[in-house]
Amino acid sequence: MTIEQISSFAAGQWIAPGSGARTIHSAITGAPFASAGNDALDVQAMLDHARNVGGPALRALGFHDRARMLKALAAHLGAHKQALYDLSFNTGATQSDHLIDIDGGIGTLFVFASKGRREMPDGQVYVDGDVEQLSRNGTFLGQHICTPLHGVAVHINAFNFPVWGMLEKLAPTILAGVPAIVKPATNSCYVTELAVKLMLDSGILPDGALQLVTGGLGDMLDRLTCQDVVSFTGSADTALKLRQNPHILENSVRFVAEQDSLNASILGPDAAPGTPEFDLFVKEVQREMTAKAGQKCTAIRRIIAPENTVPAVIEALSARLAKTTIGDPRLESTRMGALVSLDQKQDVLAKAALIAEDAERVYGDPENFAVEGADAEAGAFLPPMLFHCADPDNARHVHNTEAFGPVSTVMGYRDLDHAIALANRGEGSLVASVITHDPTVAREVALGAGAFHGRLYFNNRDSMKESTGHGSPLPHMVHGGPGRAGGGEEMGGVRGVMHYMQRTAIQGSPDILSAIADVWVPEAQEIKAEAHPFTRRFHDLSIGETIHTDPRTVSLEDIEHFAEFTGDTFYAHTDEDAAKRNPFFPGRVAHGYLLLSFAAGLFVEPNEGPVLANTGLDNLRFMKPVSAGDAIKVRLTVKKKTRRNDEYGEVRWHVTLTDQDDEKVAEYELLTMNAY
Ligand code: NDP
Repeated sequence: MTIEQISSFAAGQWIAPGSGARTIHSAITGAPFASAGNDALDVQAMLDHARNVGGPALRALGFHDRARMLKALAAHLGAHKQALYDLSFNTGATQSDHLIDIDGGIGTLFVFASKGRREMPDGQVYVDGDVEQLSRNGTFLGQHICTPLHGVAVHINAFNFPVWGMLEKLAPTILAGVPAIVKPATNSCYVTELAVKLMLDSGILPDGALQLVTGGLGDMLDRLTCQDVVSFTGSADTALKLRQNPHILENSVRFVAEQDSLNASILGPDAAPGTPEFDLFVKEVQREMTAKAGQKCTAIRRIIAPENTVPAVIEALSARLAKTTIGDPRLESTRMGALVSLDQKQDVLAKAALIAEDAERVYGDPENFAVEGADAEAGAFLPPMLFHCADPDNARHVHNTEAFGPVSTVMGYRDLDHAIALANRGEGSLVASVITHDPTVAREVALGAGAFHGRLYFNNRDSMKESTGHGSPLPHMVHGGPGRAGGGEEMGGVRGVMHYMQRTAIQGSPDILSAIADVWVPEAQEIKAEAHPFTRRFHDLSIGETIHTDPRTVSLEDIEHFAEFTGDTFYAHTDEDAAKRNPFFPGRVAHGYLLLSFAAGLFVEPNEGPVLANTGLDNLRFMKPVSAGDAIKVRLTVKKKTRRNDEYGEVRWHVTLTDQDDEKVAEYELLTMNAY
């Protein structure tokens, strides 16, 4: 049998395995089939290449350019995913496991591509939050901005998700504008290597943006600086070892960890056998125990059910587990494949033995189970194993030992407070789920357990058809957890991008802030529009370009007409005496919406032109009532521009309405789509 040579990609070169290479075995047959790692890898050259070539190239682009790269990468990987599937069977993963890892990873790239274009600016500075008023007259303001780190992100990944594990870290990193060095776990690095090859061959990324280490990382971590980030997924032991590296501590190198987790699922007190929730609970637990042969950081390790339903849970779950066909993952009939390696199998058995000190095994016998199409002894196969812990209050291992395989423990609770206390005994987890149709149960768990879990997943008959599953971290939502889970947080949309950027507090005058963030702030200099801005195309408009309209006097007839015409006859607009009794109004006042309509009438340029549509209005505030006889005028300023595509872009206008005394009566942001 030929041994595949799994290379690293360092400073623009593919480096084949050499001295110190590690042997990789097939999960299905146990036979050696690949080799990875080379002690001679020049890690300093890799860091230099990322910092001096990849970083500057990425930072020269804007968020939207980088988001477009992610979209192109996702499409490219999608076009080649069959090759990734074919290779990934060797890790023991089934076709449905591939959907989680490979399709899930590609989906994550797509989501970040979309979020980058929708939620981040079409520029190089991300503005975090509102302008802070730091002075009485508004000449000195504050604003938080985020800019990309100037270093490199070192991504150390676990064996269980060779593709998703890489892409869920890579997407926010590239979007931030930071180059990455990816170090997959050796056991499954050959799948990551193919995904990296595909991405590099596509030519989508600039040189130096992505490098790969298969095998050992050498002393790379000893060479990191305050501009670098380590993002780690794996065991708590390794995380502890790496994060306490003196060099990392001395240099305050960011270290994001996602490690062990004793995730729980609680069956609500309302979800008795016979309810849709009971069936849903059993289905979700079975799926979480068997997907990826239980090698999921989010898998349900502790099944927490009302004491009186424990026998029914064990019976129903055992019946479902009995239908799990174990075998060669390439077979269509196989529902659960192998663990990643024989070492991993031994590790799971050792951890299951610890759990057995607290609990009785009620389903699954590792000495006696059927495997289809493969040799149960030679491959890393295990059956699902269900334990029952009769005394969870006095048990230890069931709450602190993560058997990273198809192993889970049922335990009973007396009341909801007890269920919450048991869920929290995991001392920090990635996810806890609650299957309940009772919103008061959900609220109680959210308040009692939220602090211990990175994600709470509620499901019931109303949401089950569309729910995404207890075990699926979604790119939109944060993934991570306190305590045992590592104390880190990944993804969560734009939040995940921030791990690779520095948030900086900027203080200065309105002009200084506007120039830095490329967003006009009130009181910054106005640019006198050469022509009506609605006649100018997207790319011709400048930030700060402003028009001031003529005034318009609001009459009592206008207010009465508007009331009758729209049906808004609220007393403040129609009944002088009643309006006077209201502490907010001097008497009858104009409708706020009348003022908005008049404002549009004042600033609109009516002819066909580059403004394609009014797409919304944000942050509307009515600040001072307008009475009949008052005259309003409008200041319209280009606040921010966001290109959408080659045909059009969004313009955010700052709109201020003032009265005859120059006092503000209303303020808002108007959104238009303008032809490019
Ligand atoms: P490890 O912690 O052993 O490895 C995780 C990653 O760290 C791998 O890429 C590994 O590389 C790397 N690594 C290990 N030692 C070093 C080092 N000294 N310097 C730099 N990198 C290093 O976890 P595994 O992936 O092997 O999984 C082992 C256990 O971790 C599982 O059984 C499970 O309990 C837990 N785990 C938890 C996960 C979670 O998210 N909850 C996810 C995956 C695993 P290499 O493979 O080359 O050693």
